[in-house]
Amino acid sequence: MKLTSIPSETHEEIYRVADPSVGLVGFIALHSTQLGPAAGGLRMRPYTHEAEALRDVERLSEGMTYKNAAAGLPLGGGKAVIIGDPLTQKTPELLASFGQAINALAGRYWTAEDMGMTPADMARLAVETQYVAGLADGEFASGDPSPITARGIFNAIRTAHRHKNGTDALSGVVVSVQGLGNVGFHLCQLLSNAGAHLIVTDVNKTRVEQAVRDFGATAVELDQIYGVVADVFAPCAIGGILNPETIPQLKVGIVAGGANNQLVGVEDGTALHERGILYAPDFVANGGGIINVATEILKIRKSQEWVAEKLDALDATMDAILTQARVENTSPNAVAIITVAAKMARAAA
Ligand code: NAD
Repeated sequence: MKLTSIPSETHEEIYRVADPSVGLVGFIALHSTQLGPAAGGLRMRPYTHEAEALRDVERLSEGMTYKNAAAGLPLGGGKAVIIGDPLTQKTPELLASFGQAINALAGRYWTAEDMGMTPADMARLAVETQYVAGLADGEFASGDPSPITARGIFNAIRTAHRHKNGTDALSGVVVSVQGLGNVGFHLCQLLSNAGAHLIVTDVNKTRVEQAVRDFGATAVELDQIYGVVADVFAPCAIGGILNPETIPQLKVGIVAGGANNQLVGVEDGTALHERGILYAPDFVANGGGIINVATEILKIRKSQEWVAEKLDALDATMDAILTQARVENTSPNAVAIITVAAKMARAAA
């Protein structure tokens, strides 16, 4: 396993991780350790080339800096990616090698589960390094963060709905959900329990069939999800799906979901605002997962109470962001970035 440092003007540290003996190529990016050790998940995807993976890890790690600060955690922003298909190219040897790379950073980066990873994969990493969270067993094990992530998104949808429509009640509200993975499926469960009607899509047809069966959801094709008429669009799959091509298609009042980096650029946040669509900034809406993971990193004993408290505070932060955006008639994303910058400045003072 070889770690090669990549110079960066925007990030504190970036490394290329390679081990040809196990077919490993990946990256680890530490955007900021200003508030604490850089923390953020490990993602495995069949990126088409290294530059794409590098760009992803740069964007995602920066997003983690904002997310951790927004959630009021003493953690900085980091992220890791492995290039490859998690279904066919993930081996115990490849994970072991990546675990050694994480360990070499001596706690400046803490990893956890993200797309393409499972709790079992985290356990394999933990054989090589202590700097891994989201484990199923152990004194401070926090398990799968997805249910708490989904809970935070559910809260964000409810809060945005109150801002837009004056009520918390989600009964009869139509929510379109892109992605029925760990987060999306849990979110559908919560929304269905609250009486919402679901319109769903996923590349995985089995998940779609399950949502139709379990929640009476309406299934649509992948590219139809942007144009369906709904109250809320909840992106829970991949990033970059709010862009000049998709935003004009949207027929919803609110966008609030769990995917990281939903906007391609800040101008897309403005475009949503100009279309009268209320956007719940992703790095605030999906902070529940890292709150759950943080109990393990920070070795919190009464973790359930601590998580509940932090989720309430996160919801209050979302409420404050949406209020300020309305008062200033500006994009909530812009307000969220300013809010986070202020939190970081206060912490640094
Ligand atoms: P996952 O891999 O379990 O699920 C993703 C789902 O999206 C899969 O079912 C996949 O088939 C589907 N998908 C992929 N591309 C799609 C497309 N183009 N259209 C429709 N469906 C598509 O991942 P997850 O853990 O549920 O995470 C989902 C998103 O939420 C990711 O962006 C992740 O970074 C973010 N997130 C996850 C957590 C967490 O706790 N797991 C926390 C914060 C943010």
